[in-house]
Amino acid sequence: MARIDLNHIRHAYGANPKSDKDYALREVHYGFEDGGAYALLGPSGCGKTTLLNIISGLLHASHGQLLFDGKDVTRLSTQERNIAQVFQFPVIYDTMTVYDNLAFPLRNRGVGEADVDRKVRETLDMIDLASWAKRKARGLTADQKQKISLGRGLVRSDVNAILFDEPLTVIDPHMKWVLRSQLKKLHRQFGFTMVYVTHDQTEALTFADKVVVMYDGQIVQIGTPAELFEKPSHTFVGYFIGSPGMNVLPASIDGSSVKIGQETLTLGYQPQIAVGAKTELGIRPEFISLSRDGMPVSISKVEDIGRQKIVRAEFAGKPIAIVVPEDGEIPADPRVTFDPAAINIYADSWRIGREG
Ligand code: ADP
Ligand code: MG
Repeated sequence: MARIDLNHIRHAYGANPKSDKDYALREVHYGFEDGGAYALLGPSGCGKTTLLNIISGLLHASHGQLLFDGKDVTRLSTQERNIAQVFQFPVIYDTMTVYDNLAFPLRNRGVGEADVDRKVRETLDMIDLASWAKRKARGLTADQKQKISLGRGLVRSDVNAILFDEPLTVIDPHMKWVLRSQLKKLHRQFGFTMVYVTHDQTEALTFADKVVVMYDGQIVQIGTPAELFEKPSHTFVGYFIGSPGMNVLPASIDGSSVKIGQETLTLGYQPQIAVGAKTELGIRPEFISLSRDGMPVSISKVEDIGRQKIVRAEFAGKPIAIVVPEDGEIPADPRVTFDPAAINIYADSWRIGREG
């Protein structure tokens, strides 16, 4: 396993890129620690696969440098980088048995048959295909084929890292949960460096110790699930993580007060905002309370989602969402209060810290 450093990596698919928008990856400068479990999370088209393929060597970045344990591998082939990669759709040999599909990457590297057998059996158990070992891969379901693909990624213990690109897309929901737990367990047991790409926040938050959120060709935040929830660095992270996402309201700052429409709230610190920057207040639906006193709000809809209710309302002329407990009362003349500790201020979409 290895530490992976991406030094000022940029990538454009077309020739002669001129501006930021010509780059699928605008600038990624980050280190994945040896043995870390990371998720790359972001919407379709934000550059996740591009980044993963640059790490594995399927793609060579147009700018920047890639290091494994401090050694420059930028020009090395996939083979030389010694990385296992699991793709969104199965990549297997249809004419081989399930067993031989898993044995292939090991035999290919000259591993002795006794070790091959031990590793293959271990892996077959892990992916729950032991009873299918002698079957040809051809007749299997998409689901089973993808499990073989996962197995091929997991069977080698000498790799520098294992990369997963939305590997559970074709797997049924229950099995998804089982496999995700298996991957997590494997990570704890063997300490592989794992990078797991997904557009699904639940998958990212349950798999990873650290979630790398990408948006529009760049990393917008790296953090633990709690950090992403409490202090989204970019309004995009606020929207994308959480269900419903963070409320973002146009605001203006005056010293340590923030004004939204006709309402003024006290912050207890003075955000430093550059002149002319678009200023917004972010607050998650979980930190707004409905009350008898507070700021006026008009409710448009209440959605019952089991243990909680989502109240859709209009506040200062803008739509907001409020999460209330299942048995929470909805007053006839509703008003709202914002938990002051949960208010984030944004300038041109980036969070302004309390530090100043
Ligand atoms: P993600 O995996 O997050 O969905 P990708 O890395 O596949 O995103 O794509 C990032 C951007 O690069 C997208 O705008 C996509 O259209 C573009 N792109 C991806 N692959 C190619 C390619 N082979 N040639 C040209 N553009 C590409
Ligand atoms: Mg992709």
